[in-house]
Amino acid sequence: MDYDVIVIGGGYAGLAAGALLAHKGYEVLLLEKSRSLGGRAGFMDKDGYTVEYGIHANRFASAGAAAAVFRRLDRELDFIAPGEAELWREGEFQPLPNSVGKIFRSSMLPFTAKLSAARYLGKLVLGNPAKKYQLSLEDFTAGCKSQETLEILRVISGIGIIAPDPRYSSAGELAAFLKKALRSKVKVGYPEGGTRSIIEGLREELEKSGQIMTGAKVTRLMLKKGIVNQVKTDNAVYSAGAVICAIPVQGIADLFGGKDLPIKFVKKARELVPTAGISMDIGLKEPITDKSGLLVTSDPVTMGQFTSNIDPAMAPEGRQLLSWYYPLPLPWVKNSEKMEREEQRLRDLLEEMLPDIWKVLDWERTLRLTMVDGFLPRPGQTREDRPGFTIPSIDNFFLCGDTTSAEGTGGDTAFNSAIHVSRLVDDYLEEITEEEEEED
Ligand SMILES: Cc1cc2nc3c(=O)[nH]c(=O)nc-3n(C[C@H](O)[C@H](O)[C@H](O)COP(=O)(O)OP(=O)(O)OC[C@H]3O[C@@H](n4cnc5c(N)ncnc54)[C@H](O)[C@@H]3O)c2cc1C
Repeated sequence: MDYDVIVIGGGYAGLAAGALLAHKGYEVLLLEKSRSLGGRAGFMDKDGYTVEYGIHANRFASAGAAAAVFRRLDRELDFIAPGEAELWREGEFQPLPNSVGKIFRSSMLPFTAKLSAARYLGKLVLGNPAKKYQLSLEDFTAGCKSQETLEILRVISGIGIIAPDPRYSSAGELAAFLKKALRSKVKVGYPEGGTRSIIEGLREELEKSGQIMTGAKVTRLMLKKGIVNQVKTDNAVYSAGAVICAIPVQGIADLFGGKDLPIKFVKKARELVPTAGISMDIGLKEPITDKSGLLVTSDPVTMGQFTSNIDPAMAPEGRQLLSWYYPLPLPWVKNSEKMEREEQRLRDLLEEMLPDIWKVLDWERTLRLTMVDGFLPRPGQTREDRPGFTIPSIDNFFLCGDTTSAEGTGGDTAFNSAIHVSRLVDDYLEEITEEEEEED
């Protein structure tokens, strides 16, 4: 064998799984098709700005999944607490009523709506979330007459699990998120130095006992006797005791040339619907606000942050960096007419909230993204529905990333899957070594 472990994909999940295994002393090779690391959490330097791929905050900060990975690596990961989240409604920003306490303090809600919203939030978090997995938020709130309650739940589902449409939001996935949020003192944190500090920290750890190759696209996986025995790129072939596939599961079957995998798995993986939408990153020549919390709109649900107000190092002095995300259904993102309309709608909304924004524009990057988080947490795509971490017919092949059945959404799922898979791979390699020793 060339290596103990080959990891395919250098996004959050592949880097984290590779770093965790390298930390245990395994020799790791990570193959990444792009020239840079980070995948959907990647970043670039642009005229003094650090431009990430849209907003990249970490749910639950030091109690979250990225921090859990760093603790296992005996490394620090520092977070900056953003300001309070605010909701743009009826022409003004107000504190976002995203907890029972804030609902009762909110001036935007009549008393009956406060009672109703608190009751629905309570009903959501009571009991086992798994029991509500296959229930949509729309069905869960079928008897609710309060428009304000429906609006708040839509917003919370939008920002919490990126599922703003109640027809396509699993009440159980939302409940699991809210339960975790209730237990966690800090709800959100921004990594000091941005996603760069996470990516660079993981890269450093991995390289202590492994190697990273960028510009190395895996084109084919070869199977022999239930084992992936060859990992092919355009110009090389590698082998390892275990292979971790940390690319979105939608593309895994292609690596096997469309064969060798169980049909049920291939169907489930290919049909997994991701979240999608418009991401706008905007550089501003002059500061236009000192707000540093999440800014949210409810109609439609969109969200943004002045990243450089949280961490000033993200923009040149005297300038500002704003990132905004407008979640939209995947079929819309593929329809250019619809997208032109929605982009204009977002631009108008931004101008309404921040009247000077286009007057002090330095640059703008607008992306129509067909994958933001790897799965839309709707009924049929919950933790109990998504692909697991192994494929029963292939012993040394493991799945990792934000399209697996790990807990959470987006980055949390990616990091949680890495923790889980690194344990599975460690156990598998130990078992193989013991068997080999017995044979000798
Ligand atoms: C605009 C935007 C905003 C987001 N905001 C947040 C947020 O605020 N909080 C949060 O938690 N999450 C957020 N996310 C989601 C988060 O970025 C992802 O969940 C996470 O980065 C997924 O990591 P991953 O490693 O599972 O997958 P990926 O990042 O997709 O990594 C897969 C890697 O595999 C590589 N690859 C693919 N095919 C091959 C191949 N054949 N050979 C070799 N390499 C290959 C890809 O180039 C990529 O680098 C956001 C995503 C976007 C796009």
